[in-house]
Formats: sequence, structure tokens, C-alpha cells
Amino acid sequence: MDNTQLHVAIVSSPGMGHLIPVLVLGNQLATHHNIKITILAITTTSSSSEIKFLKKSNEKKTIEIIPIPSVDISHLIDSTTKVITQLRLLVREALPGIRSGIASMNHRPDALIVDIFGTQIVSIAEEFNIPKYVFHTTNAWVLALFIYLQVLDQEIEGEYVDLKQPLEIPGCKALQPDDVVDPMMDRSDQQYHEYLKLTMEYTCFDGILINTWEDLEGETIKALRSNEKLQSVLKVPLPIYPIGPLRRTIEITERDEVIQWLDNQNYESILFVSFGSGGTLSSQQMIELAWGLELSQQKFVWVVRPPSDGCPDSAYLNSNGSHTHDTFKYLPDGFLTRTKDMGLVVPMWAKQAEILSHSSVGGFISHCGWNSTIESLTNGVPMIAWPLHAEQKMNATMLMEELGVAIRPAVLPTKKLVKREEIQGMVRILMDTKEGKSTREKAKKLKISAENALSEGGSSYNSMCVLVKDIRPK
Ligand code: UDP
Repeated sequence: MDNTQLHVAIVSSPGMGHLIPVLVLGNQLATHHNIKITILAITTTSSSSEIKFLKKSNEKKTIEIIPIPSVDISHLIDSTTKVITQLRLLVREALPGIRSGIASMNHRPDALIVDIFGTQIVSIAEEFNIPKYVFHTTNAWVLALFIYLQVLDQEIEGEYVDLKQPLEIPGCKALQPDDVVDPMMDRSDQQYHEYLKLTMEYTCFDGILINTWEDLEGETIKALRSNEKLQSVLKVPLPIYPIGPLRRTIEITERDEVIQWLDNQNYESILFVSFGSGGTLSSQQMIELAWGLELSQQKFVWVVRPPSDGCPDSAYLNSNGSHTHDTFKYLPDGFLTRTKDMGLVVPMWAKQAEILSHSSVGGFISHCGWNSTIESLTNGVPMIAWPLHAEQKMNATMLMEELGVAIRPAVLPTKKLVKREEIQGMVRILMDTKEGKSTREKAKKLKISAENALSEGGSSYNSMCVLVKDIRPK
């Protein structure tokens, strides 16, 4: 064992949307900076995708993965407990496992990085006197809101969603009340209080890593670093490291059914449809989407999971990768037969990063989770933004209004059913009009901008080097 090698432990909280970027970060630090990486992965018992993914990631042996035994929180929750509260409980209950994981390491980590929902681990880092960093797996605008929420909580009375004016975030684009993140939608729910605590815990860290890059969010990054109001919330100025976009290295080793099908399609002719690791539609919305796709006559690959009425994030902590043919029974009668030459319907889970990197894919109907957004942008694929939960409405607004790489339904899909005619129209615009072409060109420019940020001397490359230098014991 080489105890002179820098050692960083990274904790991932439950959910594929957290595990994936943590593994990418770990791999980058190990491969490009010769750092020993140990990932402490808190998983959920019910997510077979997480378990499969961990097994596969462990095969490469570039990093060590210690799965933290999943904890049973069923006695602490009921059917009304929201996702953020559950995530916080899962992490809280996993703290003893994380503590003993760190205590048993012969080579004590030089730094501990936790993801967005791992902030409760701060006390363990303090106990072992290890410098601690938080990895904000989404963008800088959401981070600015996170930091400023403590002030908004003091200054604003009543529900944020009832405000008539946008919420001002110093130095950043204002936030429309309709776009607030899920936990801010009901201030009386436990989830809001957990979220608020989480944002306060951010200020206890030694630095914040963000999965974004200067060219994408320059103004917001500048505000995070120098806006007095934001800095005063942080009390001591915190280093901000924009190290994104973190993306998986795609090696298509086995050409599964979907990839083989894509191999036989025309360049940029396929629309990919997927709502992240746990997004679900209502049964009615699923039927309208199916009809919209069919009417558009656009070729597609659609990852379908059973609908859930009224709870778009219901599968988030339960993303089961098994082949559930039952899923198809929720589609309109005859849909699969009528569209058999037009599209592929994949139950539950597909290799999204591989699909988006395929040259036949030319558009993406996405829930705008930040990982999906990054996977789309780094492949130059424009989007139809279909936000469902978490911070996705903010992401969708940024993609459409600021970056011009997406179009979206007239009314938020979580508020009103998006009808088949509107879906048909959006698909046509994205895949087959000048407007669609212009969004595609902008997405391709961002792909280049991302590559520049990551290449030697680029902003994110440099930021990662500064982080490594800061972590290295003096
Ligand atoms: N993902 C995948 N296959 C699927 C659904 C999701 O590989 O069928 C991956 C996707 O590529 C992304 C992650 O799961 O890396 C989802 O993260 P995101 O932040 O987009 O959304 P979340 O699932 O956290 O809502």
C-alpha cells in the first residue's frame, strides 16, 4: 500500500442520479490525477439498477467501492413521506456504517467529498479531522438558490409558489415562482425543513464542486464567488470549483438490441424519450405521449415505466432495472403493433449515455435531470424539456430561455396534461423545422464548449487541478 498517494473518499447518497456522477468524479480523479479513490455508496435495497451499476463499476478496479449496507427506514416513514425526507433519513441512518467504513481504512483519506444529499456526514469529517468538500451534482444556478434559501426563508412569508413576483437571487437570473424546486413548493412539509437544513450544512464545508463549466454559467459562477449577499450567507468565502461537465466514458462493448437498431437508422433521425432514473407520468399522460409520438410519425426509442398518478418521482428510490413486460399494458391498444417499424419501446431502463452518444439520435424528450441534461448537451442533442420533479423546472427554463437548446410544452407537464396534438407539434418542430435546426446548432456549440472546458488548459480542467492542489496536505 502506498500511503504517500493522495487518498480521497467520496460518499454517494441513494439514487442513480447521485451515484453516476460520483463514480464519474472518482474515476476522473483516479485516472487523471493518480489519486486513490474510495467510494462509500449508500444504496437502497430496492434499486437493482444501483446494484448492477456498482458491480459493473467495480470490475474496472480503478477505484475501490464500499457499499454501505442499506438501512431500513420503513418504520420512520409513511406513504406521504416525500423523497427529500426519505433521502435525508437514509443518509442519517447510514451514518454509523459510513463512520465505521472510514474508521476501518488503514490509509485515512486526505479529503472527504460528499454529494448533494450527503451533507449530514460533516460531523464524521470533523471527528476524523478530514477536510470536507461537497459535490453539488447539479448546476450553479441551483447552487445559488440553495445558498440563498436561508435568506428567502427569513424574508418571505407564505408559500413561494403563491408569489406574484419572481424570486431574486443576488447576481443571478431571477426564479419564477412556478419553477421553484419541489421541496420549496410546500413550506409546511417536513421535506422543506430537511432541504433548508441541507442548505445550511453546505456552509460548513471547505469548498463546493459543481457539475458545470464557466462558459455555460459564467455569470452565476461569478456571483457565487464574489456577490456580497451570497458570500455573506456563506460567512467565510468558500472556494467554488466548476469541474463539469462530468460525463461517462462511453465504450460500447456489446451492441444490445437498442444500439443495433440505432445502427440501422439515419443520422440524427431518432428521438430518444426518457424521464431519468425514476420519473413517471400519469396514466393519461402516458397515453397522450404514445399518441403524440405515433401521430408525429417520428422514429423513436422510448424508455417506458409504469405510470403513477400524482407522484412523478415515485420510482426515484425504487428504480428497478428488471424487464417488466407488464409495463406495456399501460400503452394505448395496438400501439406497439402500429409503431413496430417506427420505434423501440424499452421497459424500465436503457443505456442512456450510450444511446445519446449514438449518431442516429437527433433529439431527446427529457425530464431535464442534470445528468441527462449533460449527457444530451455533451452529445450536441437538443431537447424537448419535460420537467417532472426536483430542480428540473429550473434546468428546463435555463435550457430554453438562456441556452436556446430546448423547446417545452406551453404549460408545465406537472400542472396540466400535455395533449397529443401539442406533443406531435413539438416533436415536429424539434426534428423537422428551422427552429429545431437552430436548437440543434446551439446544442452542438455547447458540445464543443464542454470539450474545451475539459481539455488541458480549459476552465474545468484547471479547476480540477486547483481542487487537487487544495486537497493535497501542505
Ligand atoms: N439513466 C440510464 N438509463 C435510464 C434512465 C436513466 O442510464 O433508463 C441514467 C441517465 O443516463 C443519468 C441518470 O440515470 O445518468 C439519471 O440522472 P438525472 O440527473 O438525469 O435524473 P434523475 O434520475 O436523478 O432524476
